[in-house]
Amino acid sequence: MKRKVLLIYTGGTIGMEKDYETGSLRAFDFGNIFEKMPEMKLMECEVFVHPFAKPLDSSDMGPQEWKIIAHYIKENYELYDGFLILHGTDTMSYTASALSFMLKGLKKPVILTGSQLPIGDLRTDAKENLLTSIYYASLYENNEAVIQEVTIYFEYKLLRGNRTLKYSAEYFDAYSSPNYPILGQSGVHLNIAKENLYRNHAYTQLEIDDYICEDVLFWRIFPGMNLSSFTELPKMKVLILQVFGSGTIFSNEKTLKTLQQIRNNGTEIVVVSQCISGGISFGKYENSNIFSKIGAISGKDITAESAITKAMHLIDNPTYTGNFAENFSRSLCGEISE
Ligand code: ASP
Repeated sequence: MKRKVLLIYTGGTIGMEKDYETGSLRAFDFGNIFEKMPEMKLMECEVFVHPFAKPLDSSDMGPQEWKIIAHYIKENYELYDGFLILHGTDTMSYTASALSFMLKGLKKPVILTGSQLPIGDLRTDAKENLLTSIYYASLYENNEAVIQEVTIYFEYKLLRGNRTLKYSAEYFDAYSSPNYPILGQSGVHLNIAKENLYRNHAYTQLEIDDYICEDVLFWRIFPGMNLSSFTELPKMKVLILQVFGSGTIFSNEKTLKTLQQIRNNGTEIVVVSQCISGGISFGKYENSNIFSKIGAISGKDITAESAITKAMHLIDNPTYTGNFAENFSRSLCGEISE
């Protein structure tokens, strides 16, 4: 039986080709992908293409598009064996993280990919990313999908989507998952690290929870920063502070007073690290005591992208019991180490 993969094309560099006469980039028609890339016909699965009416640069993708994709997957869930989302690279980790929270009980693969060079460029990385993603999206064993989570495939690596970040605007190897091992790697053979794959036993079928609250703010702390400007901001529901190392901040009275005042206004404060790998460990240094005093939440080893989308998904979401701090601290779908 041929597996069926639904390819949802949203935009980004991958969907462009170069006009070699003028040198400019123009949109590549994914509806004609089989004519432009006849090698696709050699794949052992069937690929169906659904392009966004207007392809978007991923800086224009946000909660509204995340919801559209989540619902489109839900509507087509029974018709296809795997889902592939072609996406601009700039915000792909945000979309992957948001989708991982919205799609509950996934038992089929959802793979996001894109490229650093357009698909119509001679030196493109798009073809390998596309073809291998299709392979992973159609990978089944004993009638069960091997990948049952939202992932990013990029430059020979399959990664858990909500653990990723884009760390290079230059190299083909643009994504990393510093706090979680690779799920699969393609070389001469296409490998899967089965022990690292996520399995959800809490849901018997796919459920969409598209609740999103945009009242979330993210601040990177820097030496000499004037925190008192925070108190002049309109009230927000969640403030994510990206602090130094394993969770430190300048330890003066003013800092404590300002953060306490923000907490007293009912704002949840989540603390994440400026370091790409490792995470927050309250109590390791005295300069993290301030966070324990004000009841801030440790983001542990979560990425900034995942922390932001998780906060948007959780704050005041009626489908969750328990308080925000408890829910933020636990793993919803493998995005944080417990
Ligand atoms: N600006 C593009 C985007 O994110 C970059 C890319 O696709 O690589 O849509």
